Amino acid sequence: MDAALQALPGSIDAGAKPRATSDADVHAGHRGEVDAEARFRALVEQISAITYTWTWREDEYFVLYTSPQIESILGYTPQEWIADPPAWYEWVHPDDRAVVIAENKRCETSAEAYSLRYRMIRKDGRVIWVEDSWVVVEDEHEGQRVFQGVVFDITQRKLAEEEVAFLAHHDKLTGLPNRAFFEEMLEMSISRARRHDLGVGVLFLDLDNFKLVNDSLGHHAGDQLLWQLGARLRGCTRETDLVARQGGDEFLLLLSDIERGTGAPADSDMAMIVAESVAERVREALREPFDLNGTEFFASGSIGISLFPQDAMDAETLLKNADTAMYQSKKYEPGGYVIFSTVDDDPLGRLSLTTRLRRAVELEDWVLHYQPLVDLSDGRMVGVEALVRWQEPNGLVPPGEFIPLAEELGLIEAIGDWVIDEMARQQMLWAEEGIDLEMSFNLSPRQLWSAHLAEKVIGKLRLAGVDPTKIVVEITESTAMADPDRTQKILSELHAWGLTLAIDDFGTGYSSLARLRHMPVDILKIDRAFVREVDKDRGLAGMVRAMIQLAQSLDMTPLAEGIETPGELAFLRSNGCRLAQGFLFSRPVSPDEIPALALRDGRLFPAEASRR
Ligand code: C2E
Ligand code: CA
Ligand code: CA
Repeated sequence: MDAALQALPGSIDAGAKPRATSDADVHAGHRGEVDAEARFRALVEQISAITYTWTWREDEYFVLYTSPQIESILGYTPQEWIADPPAWYEWVHPDDRAVVIAENKRCETSAEAYSLRYRMIRKDGRVIWVEDSWVVVEDEHEGQRVFQGVVFDITQRKLAEEEVAFLAHHDKLTGLPNRAFFEEMLEMSISRARRHDLGVGVLFLDLDNFKLVNDSLGHHAGDQLLWQLGARLRGCTRETDLVARQGGDEFLLLLSDIERGTGAPADSDMAMIVAESVAERVREALREPFDLNGTEFFASGSIGISLFPQDAMDAETLLKNADTAMYQSKKYEPGGYVIFSTVDDDPLGRLSLTTRLRRAVELEDWVLHYQPLVDLSDGRMVGVEALVRWQEPNGLVPPGEFIPLAEELGLIEAIGDWVIDEMARQQMLWAEEGIDLEMSFNLSPRQLWSAHLAEKVIGKLRLAGVDPTKIVVEITESTAMADPDRTQKILSELHAWGLTLAIDDFGTGYSSLARLRHMPVDILKIDRAFVREVDKDRGLAGMVRAMIQLAQSLDMTPLAEGIETPGELAFLRSNGCRLAQGFLFSRPVSPDEIPALALRDGRLFPAEASRR
């Protein structure tokens, strides 16, 4: 190949004094090999890598050839390296130098292929990453081994890899570490805590009203809020604490290396004190409004705290318990924080809700709100649905938050009885004012299956002087289908007394159409999950049309729940849905607001939506 290959003795020893070759040595060639060599040169000098050949003789190291790209990649000329081959090691980053030298020696002695990624410092001081590899090309040429190598500049690739690694551990939106990274750090923190008898705290934060931002101000505002919140959380925690985004509107805080004190009982709660003070700071940080595109927004978050070693001994359980505590906080103390151990050891939270609910039953701390039902053919309010709320000292509790527990505790019948009495009383009050409205009320499964239901309902209505044909009983599809034989009997009884029957939340359960056909149902309430954006989603549109047709063919009146936009309204009207209910017409309101709605020419369509 190159004449220079044959010429030079050398040494691999980095410390040895090198012997220079000359330009002439590098570039001269035997005449007969000129073409091949020119082609080879043309090739190696085109790729963006340093190609080189070297050998060694008598412990001295000689560069036989290096392609000129060494200058663009490292900033040194071929001559500079050829004149001083061991200089290469000086150009290697000091942190990688020992490895490079050792690996070179090992492969060179064993004639194994060498390949290594390491950092080098360019002549201008810039650090680059290279991938350097060589192989033996001519064994024992002139009594010497000849090695041929290539050095690629992989700085860009390396950066890309690092970015990928960063992204794998970080959340794109906030730039905070993600759940995976948090778990790794938590594991490490726990093992340190075990060795040195320290405490660890995990805080799980979930925003209480994030959906509101997304729904009312759009996703961009939601993103802004998360980003700003991430920055605030970092600002209110200690340098050593880790703030991560779990996903959605959930964040995690890791409090590491908490001194646990002397072990005396009073001191052993140090971790709890630290965790509580961080939770307080987070609350404080949320007190200021967020600026979302010029709109002020007040966010509040619920926090669950779990501590090592009190609440769990491993990362997974700690996280799970913090999550559980967060839900407790969300339920009983939104905007506050709950420590897992206090929930677990002494289920005061739940007990007190139970106690409070029992007391509410005794004191009848309920109130009914009424949501108008609208006839889509003329926009008139034809009736109202009675929806119960619990009057707690700090506000009204929606039914979703206590009806399930009331069912579980067997309190639902008492609540349900109150609802019927109150609704009947209200009906008569309105009748006296000349307001004639149908009224719906909801029956939960336990009520439906209580003994003598029909007699009880009719008895109550009679006592109040209410005409049963003005009353609609709503039961959900899943309740109706849980025990269809029994349901069918009860519904028939209610129907025989003149009550109107509605299947609620239709589409969310699994109806047997054969069953449905034999149930004396008058109204089919299409669940709001299908109505939401029905005008924008072809799949939903098809399903809702089918449900309307189903209702019609079963001789039932279709009612669409949860209409919120004029678009949804227009779709339902043009597809023949008779009745509707939704925030677009009115939210559930207190009874004193109903007369105004009923007496105002009776129409509940917004002006532009009612135009055909
Ligand atoms: P439901 O029977 O499906 O009642 C309708 C629920 O949808 C109400 O929630 C109402 O506020 C809400 N809603 C109405 N229009 C819209 C809308 O346009 N958009 C949205 N997003 N929501 C709308 P509420 O009052 O929280 O009641 C929740 C559930 O609690 C009721 O669902 C019902 O299953 C149950 N419930 C309410 N009152 C009673 C009761 O007296 N007894 C029993 N057993 N259950 C009740
Ligand atoms: Ca209902
Ligand atoms: Ca419903």
